[in-house]
Amino acid sequence: MTTCATCGNDYDKPLLITQGDRTAAFDSFECAIQSMAPQCHHCHCRIIGHGHESGGQMFCCAHCANQTGVTGVEDRV
Ligand SMILES: [Zn+2]
Ligand SMILES: [Zn+2]
Repeated sequence: MTTCATCGNDYDKPLLITQGDRTAAFDSFECAIQSMAPQCHHCHCRIIGHGHESGGQMFCCAHCANQTGVTGVEDRV
């Protein structure tokens, strides 16, 4: 049994996710996202796609980056 790092649920088929030098076990993608996904600096949603990084800050989309005064960021499709 492995315990989910976010909610503490015991689960026999955990997701093991490694980010940099940190590995954690989760019982669902939802819990993994909650713990691991970066947050948009502007709207605070979880960034599940590629997102945008500018000046050390993460944004979910170019719109949010632009709203925060970051220029030169465009959505890539
Ligand atoms: Zn969980
Ligand atoms: Zn955003």
